[in-house]
Amino acid sequence: MNSFNDVWQSVCEYCKNSIHSVAYNTWISTLEPVAMDGDTAVIRSRSDYQKTIVESHYTELLSRGFEEVFGFPVSIRIVVEEAAVTKPSPKPEDSSFRYTFDNFVVGPSNKFAHAAAVAVANDPGHAYNPFFIYGNPGLGKTHLLNAMRNEMAKKFPDLKIVYTQGEPFMNEIIEAIHNVGTVEFREKYRKADVLIIDDIQFIIGRGEATQVEFFNTFEALHRENKQIIISSDRHPKDMKSLDERIESRLINGLTADIEQPDYETRVQIIRSKAKERNLEIPDVVVQYIANQLKSNVRQLEGIVNKLNSYHDLMGEEPLLSVVTPMINEIRKEEMPEPITIERIIDNVAVAYDVTAADICSKKQNAQIANARHIAIYIAREVTGLPLKTIGKSFGRNHATVSASLKKIENDIQHNARLNDTVNDIIKNIQNS
Ligand code: ADP
Ligand code: MG
Repeated sequence: MNSFNDVWQSVCEYCKNSIHSVAYNTWISTLEPVAMDGDTAVIRSRSDYQKTIVESHYTELLSRGFEEVFGFPVSIRIVVEEAAVTKPSPKPEDSSFRYTFDNFVVGPSNKFAHAAAVAVANDPGHAYNPFFIYGNPGLGKTHLLNAMRNEMAKKFPDLKIVYTQGEPFMNEIIEAIHNVGTVEFREKYRKADVLIIDDIQFIIGRGEATQVEFFNTFEALHRENKQIIISSDRHPKDMKSLDERIESRLINGLTADIEQPDYETRVQIIRSKAKERNLEIPDVVVQYIANQLKSNVRQLEGIVNKLNSYHDLMGEEPLLSVVTPMINEIRKEEMPEPITIERIIDNVAVAYDVTAADICSKKQNAQIANARHIAIYIAREVTGLPLKTIGKSFGRNHATVSASLKKIENDIQHNARLNDTVNDIIKNIQNS
């Protein structure tokens, strides 16, 4: 395995968790690692344009990402290679093939979800339909969904499997509705034999028309015994603004939750991740990690990745003395990050299909103004900051903020759906 590639994967993971997914997918995920040159990381961009954007906006983020992995500061050099510009844009690295049933460690916390996933993958459209997996972030939902996808692709090569994520899926619906271009949308989704949607919670806040189109898609597929597989960070009942018909369809299928793995399972996961990377970690270290990190498998994998790059790049053995500071670092990160107004704006923007810039602009079109009122209201609810401070983040004065608050407070009293939507968005913010 190329170790600079591994480091790059960790840096990407870091960036992904630090910026909005749209920005990440546009600017970072399409970069390619070249090499380390002393303490400078050389990264290739696809175009001059991307280079300019990354240099002006993201070098600091990237160097923080590298520092996170190496523990020392790293400079960033972006290069554009002729070849990279002229060749047809390479597919973004797809890690989904890594996720299989074989490398999914089964324990009491995920036994049921795993068994159901295997059953569905063996008999799509018949066994359990729809199949709904839910659980907190980092516990293996995406892994299981991809394992099912890979298994079905292998077993039933003729099946048309469509895999998507909640956010882009909802955006496609909205686009289809706006352009009255539902034909293409239906062509793509209603011809699927298996439809997999990861992280459906992003349907939250989307207007009724979006949910209706989703419901119709769902019905069309379900009627024909096409398999529908959905994941979310919470049970359908806890997505309060979900259309009731969708909720009842989901509940009538099979739902399975994934919980935090117990100690034994954590130990096994660490061992399995280390083995995949040909890294030997002494038992005491494995046990120490499993004792320290309990709530999120992604963190366990992150630690193994880090130990692996320390080992490959600097010859450091994975000893307790090496792992302890890493764990302390994760602990610090784990402390609930104060929710920033920026994060609130980003989440509201996603829910209302506008951009963060729109929300902070002077634009007055109804959709944007509405999103702005809601973002202001949530900012006040969640941060409790003074109105003046909130106003600053939105480029508004105290009086405008106060007017937005009154408006939404009043609207919520009379509109239960809005109240649900706001609460759902707040949950999304806490989990984002
Ligand atoms: P989620 O989608 O629930 O947020 P992921 O599926 O992305 O979580 O899991 C996070 C990371 O942890 C992935 O790299 C995944 O491979 C790993 N992981 C989670 N659960 C397991 C498991 N039971 N066995 C092996 N790896 C796991
Ligand atoms: Mg996931």
